[in-house]
Amino acid sequence: MNVLVINCGSSSLKYQLINSDTEEVLAKGLCERIGIDGSLTYQKAGLDKEVTTPAMPTHKEAIQLVLDALTNDKTGAIKDLSEVDAVGHRIVHGGEKFASSAIIDDEMLKAVEECNDLAPLHNPANLIGINACKELMPNVPMVGVFDTAFHQTMPEKAYLYGLPYEYYEKYKVRRYGFHGTSHSFVSKHIAEFLNMDINNSKIIVAHLGNGASISAVLNGKCIDTSMGLTPLEGLVMGTRSGDIDPAIMEFIANKEGLDIAGVMNVLNKKSGVQGISKVSSDFRDLEEGMNDGNKLCEAAIEVFSYRVAKYIGSYVAALNGVDAIAFTAGIGENAPLVRKKVVSYLGYLGITLDEEANGNRGKDLVISTPDSKVKVAIIPTNEELAIARETVALVK
Ligand code: AMP
Repeated sequence: MNVLVINCGSSSLKYQLINSDTEEVLAKGLCERIGIDGSLTYQKAGLDKEVTTPAMPTHKEAIQLVLDALTNDKTGAIKDLSEVDAVGHRIVHGGEKFASSAIIDDEMLKAVEECNDLAPLHNPANLIGINACKELMPNVPMVGVFDTAFHQTMPEKAYLYGLPYEYYEKYKVRRYGFHGTSHSFVSKHIAEFLNMDINNSKIIVAHLGNGASISAVLNGKCIDTSMGLTPLEGLVMGTRSGDIDPAIMEFIANKEGLDIAGVMNVLNKKSGVQGISKVSSDFRDLEEGMNDGNKLCEAAIEVFSYRVAKYIGSYVAALNGVDAIAFTAGIGENAPLVRKKVVSYLGYLGITLDEEANGNRGKDLVISTPDSKVKVAIIPTNEELAIARETVALVK
């Protein structure tokens, strides 16, 4: 079965065509700057990337261009659209309505629209992508896979804020968590990889990318995660502040003459390791800066790693122990320095780092020594494959 996985942003669209039987990626790419000056990247497995700049005024034209590229006579991955058996859409916010993926129908679309308030930048873009696919492929079954769904098993004590309860009753202000597809995929995968019984397991997943979050997974179910109502809460990220004293918002607004939108822009786009280092949100640049003696790059890496270690400690408390810790996403998979710094705080758990193994990147690998009481591993995430698997499970 061939599944087209679509991840729509406000002006971008990432896609992969996956053969779900072999789990092979047949073709992949992205559309960028939709509605501006549009570019389409397309890559069939085994061939070079092609980049073109066709007119792309809306997501509908962008998806049509993707479908044309996939069925192109020369470099197409399939002969015609009848070979697309299902479409899996990433949807950012499912609120409390979706604790799992679901077949997309009119009722579901209405429920997603009702969550728009909670993710005003993402959900409307996801809906535009879904509607464009519906128009262009009306008979192909489609599934929505939510970033929030995996975290819906969090107990009330983990998701309620210390705020007036009426804000939860009236506006559903609570912690939701994000990156759920990745946390779900990686927690299952590390259990398989380490031959653990997931139904009797305590796992912590550190998804450390440009956006970063941690989850505590008990017997396969999420019991806590670091992102909240929005992806701003929790870890220090590429450009997001993560947890701060909320009173800083008023203080900075007064000092800098900013309104709420201005302060939010600083917290989302100008903070995190970018804000601390004044150099970059990318850990490759930060490491280079640190090696050249830039003290702020070093401080950014230290602050990031320390926050990760503190969250791991709090999740050990939430789980009353831990069997395995997974590092995943761009930094988690590729930055030995960050993993080493984080693990250096975890000696109290009986963890010792295997320095040689930790020098590797991007593959399933145990990086703790054999005598460590808790296993630590690199587990590359694959959100597209996870979406394809969820899609197949629902349409079959
Ligand atoms: P993601 O959001 O999961 O795609 O992660 C992107 C981030 O991963 C980048 O901003 C970098 O900070 C980090 N990253 C990617 N490759 C490397 C690398 N080779 N070494 C260190 N950090 C990396």
